[in-house]
Amino acid sequence: MRELAGMTPPITGRCLCGAVRYVCSAPPFWSVNCHCRACQRLSGAPFVSAFCVSVEAFAFEGETRPFRRPSDAGHEVTTWLCAACGARMFAESAGATGHMNIFASTLAEPSAFKALSNVYLAEAASWIAPPPARFNFPRMPGPPDEAG
Ligand SMILES: [Zn+2]
Ligand SMILES: [Zn+2]
Repeated sequence: MRELAGMTPPITGRCLCGAVRYVCSAPPFWSVNCHCRACQRLSGAPFVSAFCVSVEAFAFEGETRPFRRPSDAGHEVTTWLCAACGARMFAESAGATGHMNIFASTLAEPSAFKALSNVYLAEAASWIAPPPARFNFPRMPGPPDEAG
């Protein structure tokens, strides 16, 4: 979509300590601010921003460790963290196989990111206003199943 045109491959990023690095060879096809309670608890922040690419266009290096939880729809969601610094890097859902969700704050150039959507606005923190986005959903609107 036009809003994502600023993210031109190769799209790169890394964790805080630099042990985990990734590259996307295709532009994202979707992006979100996720305001769900799971993302809040996992990140310590009121919401997380992520973009979605095909797994075929995604590669990373460095040691990661998984954290697994069920989504609202009952699919296993795996979030990958840097094994050294604990930074939350990317996530995938059994309900949306073939998609990798990458957390936008890990980008080398985060200013290129734009969220097309807000999801889980029903669970949004009371102390901030959700950023403007073209699509706004009270919960998860369907595939991709989970942002994180
Ligand atoms: Zn790290
Ligand atoms: Zn979430």
